[in-house]
Amino acid sequence: MDLFYQAGSWPALVIGLLLGATIGSFLNVVIVRLPRQLQLQWQYECAELNGQPVTQKERYNIAFPASHCPQCQAAIAWYDNIPLLSYLMLAGKCRHCRQTIPLTYWLVELAMTVILGLAAWQLGLSLAWAVLLLAVSLLVCMIVIDIQHQLLPDQLTYSLLWLGLLWSLNPTSGISPGQAILGAAIGYLSLWSVFWLFKLATGKDGLGYGDFKLLAAIGAFTGATLLPVTVLASSVVGVLVGVIALVRKGRSEPIPFGPFLIGGGLISYFSGDELLHAYWQWLGL
Ligand SMILES: [Zn+2]
Repeated sequence: MDLFYQAGSWPALVIGLLLGATIGSFLNVVIVRLPRQLQLQWQYECAELNGQPVTQKERYNIAFPASHCPQCQAAIAWYDNIPLLSYLMLAGKCRHCRQTIPLTYWLVELAMTVILGLAAWQLGLSLAWAVLLLAVSLLVCMIVIDIQHQLLPDQLTYSLLWLGLLWSLNPTSGISPGQAILGAAIGYLSLWSVFWLFKLATGKDGLGYGDFKLLAAIGAFTGATLLPVTVLASSVVGVLVGVIALVRKGRSEPIPFGPFLIGGGLISYFSGDELLHAYWQWLGL
């Protein structure tokens, strides 16, 4: 279904690239502010529960205050806030205090530009492209926030879950609503059970609740039959990275599991059927 421009058209590619860069720039704001906003909110709630007086609440959200350097607080002018280009022109440093701007900002903008540009070329500016835009935006935020804060905010995991369930209503989604609902439910319950088994056996938390919600969201896109592929792929890569980190640092540190789940989810979404088929053939069935 092509709403505006068809697949393989140059205007679609150009609009895809420009929108990708702009959305990437906005995602950087979400990545920095959402965890901080949640942290402030939890602090207020804790204080209220403990009966402590809540002093003046700090106004902080996605839109307020205006963009500023976290180091020197200088306001960022529009010409220093151009997606992809400003970072290069400033050589990755604040114009005022010369503090290094994290490379992550630029990488998020680059990733969004490339992914949304290529997808617009492949899919045209269609409904499928719009769904991909939303899904990729949520996934990119989750990956960076989970790595930086070991946190998968509900706002992101639940949005992805709803997106997957609603998208399954579209006949071109490749998945039926029934499969999507089952995928979401089984995705949540499978990690939830692992969490409790692990906790009963070791007394430790091996996973976070955000991980269950994320696998539910992934299950809404892939259906239940591909969930084992997702879990297996993400565990294999997760364990490998964990062992490498252990060897390099000499001690085990908590590793965010979200990025691995997302990697496994992408593998199973794009080639899970082929992998399952190859596996059955290998078993001789
Ligand atoms: Zn600065």
